[in-house]
Amino acid sequence: MYRYSVIVDLSANALDRGFDYVSETPFEVGTRVSVPFGKMTVEGFIIKDKSSEPLSEKDKTINFKSITAALDPYPVILPEFLEIAEFLRTQNVRLIDSLRLFIPSKLRGGKVKALNRNYIELAIAYDEAVKLVKSTAKAQLDIIERLKDGGEYESILTKEFSQSGINTLCNKGILTKSEKELRRTPKAMNIERKDVVFTAEQANAIEVITKGGGGTYLLHGVTGSGKTEVYMRLIDDALASGKTAIMLVPEIYLTPQMLGVFRSRFGESVSVLHSGLSDGERYDEWARLIKGEAQIALGARSALFAPLTNLGVIIIDEEHDGSYISESNPRYFTIECAELRQKESNARLVLGSATPSVDTYLKAKKGEYTLIEMNRRANNKTLPRLETVDMRLEMRDGNLGLFSKPLLTAIDAALEANEQVMVFLNRRGYTSKVQCRKCGYVAVCTDCDVSLTYHKSEGALKCHYCGNKFFMLKTCPKCGASDFKDGKTGTEKVVTELQRVFPNAKIARMDNDSVTKKDAYLNILQAFANHESDILVGTQMLAKGHDFKSVTLVGILDADQALYFPDYRSYERTFQLITQVAGRAGREEKAGRVIMQTLNPDHFVFRFAEKYDYHGFYEKEINSREVTKFPPFSRIYRILVTSEEQESAVIAARGIYTVLRDYKTENPSAFLSLAAAQSEISRIENKYRYQIIIVAPVPAAPEVAEFIYSSAKTDRKGVFVSTDINPQQLY
Ligand code: ADP
Ligand code: ZN
Repeated sequence: MYRYSVIVDLSANALDRGFDYVSETPFEVGTRVSVPFGKMTVEGFIIKDKSSEPLSEKDKTINFKSITAALDPYPVILPEFLEIAEFLRTQNVRLIDSLRLFIPSKLRGGKVKALNRNYIELAIAYDEAVKLVKSTAKAQLDIIERLKDGGEYESILTKEFSQSGINTLCNKGILTKSEKELRRTPKAMNIERKDVVFTAEQANAIEVITKGGGGTYLLHGVTGSGKTEVYMRLIDDALASGKTAIMLVPEIYLTPQMLGVFRSRFGESVSVLHSGLSDGERYDEWARLIKGEAQIALGARSALFAPLTNLGVIIIDEEHDGSYISESNPRYFTIECAELRQKESNARLVLGSATPSVDTYLKAKKGEYTLIEMNRRANNKTLPRLETVDMRLEMRDGNLGLFSKPLLTAIDAALEANEQVMVFLNRRGYTSKVQCRKCGYVAVCTDCDVSLTYHKSEGALKCHYCGNKFFMLKTCPKCGASDFKDGKTGTEKVVTELQRVFPNAKIARMDNDSVTKKDAYLNILQAFANHESDILVGTQMLAKGHDFKSVTLVGILDADQALYFPDYRSYERTFQLITQVAGRAGREEKAGRVIMQTLNPDHFVFRFAEKYDYHGFYEKEINSREVTKFPPFSRIYRILVTSEEQESAVIAARGIYTVLRDYKTENPSAFLSLAAAQSEISRIENKYRYQIIIVAPVPAAPEVAEFIYSSAKTDRKGVFVSTDINPQQLY
């Protein structure tokens, strides 16, 4: 008799542990099984083999139930994933929530099955088959000819030949019919493989990493330095030694071009995982990996959990990108989990960016990561000239518009030369706030304490926090006046204004409003790449690694937008955004130019950005983080308490705070600081928000973290508590 610990696939804190089951036949750990549970039969995962553990006295009295059946022909959870799940548990993630992360969601509950289709092949050698058919049976001979070099799905064959011909050949034993999984292939562009001669910097990077062996590398390469070629070469190298590879990119970078480049280089070895896939496609791609039919997983953050064994290399491109941090259940840091996978298989973990996060760069400086720098563009072109325009001077000269004179002149020249332009503004909508000029009334969301943004094309006022939509006001609900003041300009108004100045230009927009469907951004990017539009206006979506050949001008409006957020990362984010957006210009023959509009031209962030001086920026930023004791020199825990009942939220938050304050009194060195307050945005989705901010020293003491998580709970009804580490937003 074998005995296993099984976790059932049900969401309840009390069930988030293993239950013992027995079996006559052995199973592998990680197998998905069905088991009796109370009166139900439920799905679960084998998380431990306890067969050789002695039974305790109590266990001896228990009549363990038997596992009903295995649900897949192979274990779906790799052993190393159980380790990652154990690690995430120390960060307050339930085991079952981690396990769900590791498999395609629709595998659970048997919602997606492999799509089996009849597959027809020659049962005997081609020459013999031909001899067995009368020379007058032309139709049958054609079928044999068609299958000479390999089989085909019956559904496709019947489009070309008659069903009866196929049946006859099957009955004669000349063809065989079997079931084969039909693969649903995600779409990609056909791109011809292009081989490059590596630059000295690329060659050096490749050599350091291939010779360096297992470990973590930071590839800091300016925009256009040719990091992708380095990645692909490293993947080649892994495959050549019989290993597998994972390549992560921000979601929006998974364009058909990118997929096309990988397909042309690696063919069927690539499996693609991104949110635009249907459940069927996702399952198929995952199945190809777990069966060893594909050796490369290419995808956004969750592709880190691709079921690949024997990993040779894991690449995280644009490692600074916020999308690598999961801030909803299950919460995790992709790089942290990648380091676990790296250690497990002694793989090479390569973090790449033109603007590494200061945390990552510090680790490289301290020698925890091997630092490799690429300072030049691969095609030997210089980085685009970045010019700062002082908008205060423009205003003094009477220009109260959105665009400075130098920017308008430059756009005009670019359009004249049939070149493309990108205009960046990190604010959605038409205007950010609608206010009555007479009484000062501001339109706010009914469910959140924030002002609404006007979206002109939809005639709507939208809440950017909960998604609520309201009709645009005709008159002020308070005083009845109908004269409204505009707030700050958003991307929608930029398009309108640009169109007014350049009536013949074709202008497209890319932001969360124009990209409502999952893969709509692919279409917008595709159209822009084909030069179907001249100007692309957009939010930070523009800042990702797009490689457009004929963009020669990038305009950055309101560069100050994120500079003064109450967030320790605002300078870093602003620097990254500007550098990345600027990097989209002048990537091919023609030189690029960037024009950045700001009200703070002397701010150090812009001074360094202007010169593409990452190192200068880094030194200044890391010093101030050290002095002010912000991450990476500390770890911030944010405990967020929310409830529809304000009173309940206050009482629960106060309760948690009191426990932590007493802990701090007893352990004065546990926290650097502890504070509780109403959140910056005091209500979202009709839930009142209170937060407790703990700044803890690093390295984090495990018992301190454990204490924080165990106190961040409440029994009060209707109150929710969540805990984040170094949250992206502190509001
Ligand atoms: P990054 O990711 O560093 O911003 P990319 O990998 O997108 O840069 O490369 C930028 C451009 O340079 C691409 O069009 C790429 O094809 C080209 N490129 C890369 N390596 C070379 C090389 N060795 N010689 C010529 N062109 C190259
Ligand atoms: Zn709202």
